[in-house]
Amino acid sequence: MQSFAIFVNGVWRQAAGGRTFQSIEPFTGQPWATIPDSTEADVADAVSGAYAALTGAWRDTMPTERGRLMFALADILDENAEELAHIEARDNGKVLREMVGQARALSGWYRYFGGFADKISGRTIAADKKDFHTYTLKEPVGVVGAITAWNSPVLLLAYKLAPALAAGCTVVVKPSELASASTLKFAEYFERAGFPAGVLSVVTGGPAVGQALVAHPDVNMVSFTGSTDVGRKIGAAAIAHFAKVSLELGGKSANIVFADADLDKAVNGVIAGIYAAAGQTCMAGSRLLVHESIADELVARVSERARTIVVGDPLSLDTEMGPLIGPASVSRIHNIVSGALDDGADAPAGGAPLVDLGPAFYSPTVIDHVTPSMAIATTELFGPVIAVQRFSTEEEAIAIANSTEYGLAAGLWTENVSRAHRVADRLVAGTIWVNSYRTVSFAVPTSGRKNSGIGTENGIEAVDEFLKTKAVWINLSDTTRDPFTIG
Ligand code: NAD
Repeated sequence: MQSFAIFVNGVWRQAAGGRTFQSIEPFTGQPWATIPDSTEADVADAVSGAYAALTGAWRDTMPTERGRLMFALADILDENAEELAHIEARDNGKVLREMVGQARALSGWYRYFGGFADKISGRTIAADKKDFHTYTLKEPVGVVGAITAWNSPVLLLAYKLAPALAAGCTVVVKPSELASASTLKFAEYFERAGFPAGVLSVVTGGPAVGQALVAHPDVNMVSFTGSTDVGRKIGAAAIAHFAKVSLELGGKSANIVFADADLDKAVNGVIAGIYAAAGQTCMAGSRLLVHESIADELVARVSERARTIVVGDPLSLDTEMGPLIGPASVSRIHNIVSGALDDGADAPAGGAPLVDLGPAFYSPTVIDHVTPSMAIATTELFGPVIAVQRFSTEEEAIAIANSTEYGLAAGLWTENVSRAHRVADRLVAGTIWVNSYRTVSFAVPTSGRKNSGIGTENGIEAVDEFLKTKAVWINLSDTTRDPFTIG
């Protein structure tokens, strides 16, 4: 067992009252780490430290120096990527080969946004009022409460923390209770980089800790990544004290394959979209919409590859797909798969738990002949299951793609450039990939439509999310105005 401490206002310590909980390794089903169970008092300490830094040491850190600290953090992350990846793969069960790639990429976020730190400025305005010099100042939005999901804890934190630091904000993060260890390890690197105390604090625990953070009156913005149901509650709690919110929520993204697609590439993209990370990504391409003329061939090829996916120990580099986060996910997913099969769908690949491997494994699954009324067509499963629907026209493909409550991402496969642009324009989703799936970059904005959330992460737009604009009016006139005609 490894034991972790929380990082509050520059101090490593146990939770007030000393309570802890255990983090379970999904592959073994056994506890592997002891994590502090933070209290409201810990949250209050973290927020007060963040507020002190916001109005003190961090405000007095010049923007170029903020950037330099972020570059130093990036260097430390590069040196420790393997360590971070191992912790994360153990804690959330995602395969090491993906986690290593993610951990190696992490530094890019701190370099990219570190470069923005000293390039943020307001503007002078030609206002329609005589004898005024007007300009704007860009200010940090304030103390940010960040709450993250378990599926990619330090990457999801980077989406928030890197632009927040560039903007001059301070951050208190609460990672998921299902995978907290990597965020606590990350805080060690953060401390080593030399940031002032209070710029980042980490509190750990379950929903109650998140609730305390969201409700704290000195939290000026809540940046959340997680499920749509929890996002709705968090949005309401944040707005109750007028904190700004950014909500990155669930998805049920469509991968649309047209008859003119390059099928080799499409098969590869469909597999990458749903079986990478065992489908436990917000952007999973969990719906395959395929033109009826190529549907049988495509489903056969995807199913054949699904059946040969190497499932097992996430820490083995040969493994292509690991376990789910826990047995509860397996039963939730299997209920919905069984419902579809009972209602007339079929399973050319998988369709059952892989009990021989352990209680958290589910087979790479293809469910064909899905109809719109089946729950599998619209419910986010967060697992390795793709629901296949066939279409006959482009209009129909667009209508099916846009028919869920979500709007996070979509992929489309076609060799027709006009169709690619036309369909990309009509899909209601924040990210569209053409002849690709699941590529992300710190430089390219990601956002949700409909119940997939509000706010933008990544790209230069992300910095704006963490800034407020102040207007300053300087009266240039040396005469006194009539007090009753100002305006
Ligand atoms: P979740 O919503 O159950 O939990 C997310 C976080 O919220 C955890 O830290 C949890 O402790 C906390 N939380 C739960 N209830 C809370 C409350 N009432 N107040 C404050 N905090 C609370 O989500 P999860 O199971 O960890 O992650 C899976 C979900 O996240 C999926 O829906 C997935 O699509 C989504 N996700 C979205 C993105 C994106 O960028 N859009 C990225 C990754 C994951």
